Amino acid sequence: MTTETFDIETHAKTYQDKGPADILRLAYGNFDNIAISFSGAEDVVLIDIASRITSSLKVFSLDTGRLHSETYRFLEQVREHYNIELEVLSPDAAQLEAFVRDKGLYSFYKDGHKECCGVRKIAPLRRKLQTLDAWVTGQRKDQSPTRANVSVMETDSAFSTPGRALYKFNPLSNWTSKQVWGYIRANDVPFNELHGRGYTSIGCEPCTRPVLPNQHEREGRWWWEEETLKECGLHAGNLAPGS
Ligand code: SF4
Repeated sequence: MTTETFDIETHAKTYQDKGPADILRLAYGNFDNIAISFSGAEDVVLIDIASRITSSLKVFSLDTGRLHSETYRFLEQVREHYNIELEVLSPDAAQLEAFVRDKGLYSFYKDGHKECCGVRKIAPLRRKLQTLDAWVTGQRKDQSPTRANVSVMETDSAFSTPGRALYKFNPLSNWTSKQVWGYIRANDVPFNELHGRGYTSIGCEPCTRPVLPNQHEREGRWWWEEETLKECGLHAGNLAPGS
């Protein structure tokens, strides 16, 4: 199956109330050239479920150079636990050096996270996605206002090109944080030790802080910015036009 023959709109309707395993079975049954984007947080649940469905799991992660040391150790733990080939993507060295020379190491506190995320995350991700037909993400509707309408699968409006559709599967879209953690505990899935220290959504070290018990899980990300702008560009299609 290719992106030309896969009827994503019909499948999205049929699978809108199905669970992650059914959605991943559909994805792996139709695409060979598909990979999981692993952020090194709790979306290892996807790896756990997919590893029971396919023996040729492809997983990649974005190494921004600014992750917590706990996250790097966790990436290695997951690589060994599931015996997978984990592709760790780095920013382009020349682009990053020019950016840091020009703006310093903490420009995001002054003029927003978009430029730094653009260099450290989006450019490497775009390079990787150009090689795939489909990718799998851990986005959930209950994570933030920007994700409230995330479908279980969609054409990726941010990374498709005029000549080529890229499909994005979001198997955890309908799951709550409670369900994710129920799965992690029931299946002995490894998780980032930062979760035990009040971090809920984990990104780069300078842009992530723990949240209080009643705060929303992504409030600790880019806490100095507007709630509705809290996407790093990986899922830019979630943002309202013009935001
Ligand atoms: S999350 Fe922060 S440090 Fe990481 S790429 Fe984005 S702005 Fe840069």
